[in-house]
Amino acid sequence: MTLHGKTALVTGSTSGIGLAIARCLAAEGSNLVLNGFGDAGAIAAQRAELAKTFGVAVTYAPADISHPDQIATMVAQAQSDHGSLDILVNNAGVQHVAAIESFPAAEWNRVIAINLTAAFLAMQAAIPGMKTRGWGRIINIASAHGLVASGEKSAYVAAKHGLIGLTKTAGIELANVGVTCNAICPGWVLTPLVQAQLDARAARDGITPDQAAALFLAEKQPMHRFTAPEQIGATAVFLCSDGAATITGAALSVDGGWVSQ
Ligand code: NAD
Repeated sequence: MTLHGKTALVTGSTSGIGLAIARCLAAEGSNLVLNGFGDAGAIAAQRAELAKTFGVAVTYAPADISHPDQIATMVAQAQSDHGSLDILVNNAGVQHVAAIESFPAAEWNRVIAINLTAAFLAMQAAIPGMKTRGWGRIINIASAHGLVASGEKSAYVAAKHGLIGLTKTAGIELANVGVTCNAICPGWVLTPLVQAQLDARAARDGITPDQAAALFLAEKQPMHRFTAPEQIGATAVFLCSDGAATITGAALSVDGGWVSQ
């Protein structure tokens, strides 16, 4: 129980990687603020289950983080509900796949707003309290696409490269105030975000989703297996631990060797 008494806000924690990170932090004793879209009843059930299983306080912030004012409200609410916001995980992300010449400008703006600008605004709101208390952990969920590119993902690749740049800058600015800022760079993790891409590839090429999954892995990862969301959660817990107190401004790959090539 290394995080007992801390509070973590995980954006996009109603699904996939964010939900697994929230679970792993709660298992270490951290209170939680969940955020993300979904059915109200399902989110209430998730909240109750996490609170009961781990004996922590769990609240839900309904912010749409493509709206800056809702991010400020979410952070302020987290601080007033729990007394402090100690761990910020900027996880929510969206994807749009199209060649640059046919990439809709509205999709570019949406991907940059959610994957990059929202992280900047949440950090801006959360850092003063972390500095006052002399302890904080900021974890930005980037991607292998924050370090290398793929075709037809211009906005996502630009946003994730930007997120790693933002992480480095925060690491420098916060180096001596007890607050670290790091990025985790996953390769393929089987979540709804990736399942949608598998289904699209299967439909396009007339193959099964399982065949599409094998192709995705073979194209990008030396290791032909998906990372489990819980393995990203375990990395986040490590970054919150005392053992990671001098790791800052780093981009940690959890990607089956994707960017080693
Ligand atoms: P997911 O689609 O399963 O979950 C995304 C979450 O973000 C959901 O909870 C959704 O409700 C929330 N969200 C989306 N738009 C939002 C908005 N405007 N406001 C608030 N919440 C919003 O996706 P995932 O695969 O779990 O991805 C999580 C993060 O991990 C993303 O940043 C993604 O880019 C990154 N990532 C994923 C993979 C992968 O293989 N799945 C690989 C590398 C990086």
